[in-house]
Amino acid sequence: MDDKLATQFFESQSTVGLSHEHDPSLPRYLIVQNGGMPGTMVALSPGLLWLGRSEENGLSLPEASVSRRHAGLRIDEYGHAWLSDQRSTNGTFRNGKRLPPFEPIPIHDGDRIRLGTKVVLKYACPDPEEEQFQKQMFERTVRDPLTGLYNRSYFLDQLSVLSARAGSRGLGMAVLMLDIDHFKSINDALGHDGGDAVLRDVAGQIRQSARAEDIVARYGGEEFALALPIGSSDQAYDRAETIRTTLAQRKLKFGRRSICVTASLGLSFSPLRPTQRIDALITAADRALYLAKNAGRNRVVRSTEGQFDTPMTLAVAE
Ligand code: GH3
Ligand code: MG
Ligand code: MG
Repeated sequence: MDDKLATQFFESQSTVGLSHEHDPSLPRYLIVQNGGMPGTMVALSPGLLWLGRSEENGLSLPEASVSRRHAGLRIDEYGHAWLSDQRSTNGTFRNGKRLPPFEPIPIHDGDRIRLGTKVVLKYACPDPEEEQFQKQMFERTVRDPLTGLYNRSYFLDQLSVLSARAGSRGLGMAVLMLDIDHFKSINDALGHDGGDAVLRDVAGQIRQSARAEDIVARYGGEEFALALPIGSSDQAYDRAETIRTTLAQRKLKFGRRSICVTASLGLSFSPLRPTQRIDALITAADRALYLAKNAGRNRVVRSTEGQFDTPMTLAVAE
């Protein structure tokens, strides 16, 4: 069934007798429970949203058991939600029951939708307090409280989504690992609170250097990670150098003390859709960072590992 037909099908089904259990003015969400960052809230607006592995879907879920176009979710003019399986390979399930293909069924507040074997989404129509609570809980899950940057697990989770998006825009992906030099001595000199202030300052500098499409995270204690959708290794190297020099040229004032903080950076780049090679990109950036430390610190080292030159394919659902 093509998009148009499927849309008409949804429309023809949308007036089947359902009680107005919800206020149509309340927001509607899909909340990720599994197969992504738990708690991610996808706001739904009236109309049809496609769900599937491919980038062209309104909600793209880069997971192997999800079909390219897996399911459709439509919010009709009364605020009712309809879910349809698009003849997916591994099935669409509502509360454990598999949907027949191309037959929209109504879904309700609290229903669990499973796509394939892994992705589980909850359909929710929260009132304003619940909505606020859910958002705050999600922020706590994905943010590092000290710096406000994303945390490591969110970074790792979003990397494959980001790289798939980069690939569809004809861009490659760079991963930058940054580690503050001699941070132990900074802690020794300024105390733990002073060390924390330095971490916040460095985080702020890195954040300022980022574009909207980048992901910046605190990866560990005094280690930061950046994922950059970018066209070439040279461009990524320039970005890394800018971050390094910006940090090195700053003087931080603590009372009468003034200190200079430097960092070492490891960079890896893949010019292709690196969805299946994210771990390798991180490992390569990590090794390059290690080399930067050994070479004397306050420098950027580019990974020379050539394992990203050929695309690899996974056995994925059609
Ligand atoms: P190198 O140049 O080799 O990276 O040396 P380093 O001293 O930075 O390296 P190392 O990784 O051994 O030390 C990191 C220190 O960071 C150790 C730890 O006590 C400190 N640290 C980790 N998390 C925090 C934090 O949240 N706040 C503060 N103030 N210090 C932290
Ligand atoms: Mg370290
Ligand atoms: Mg360090």
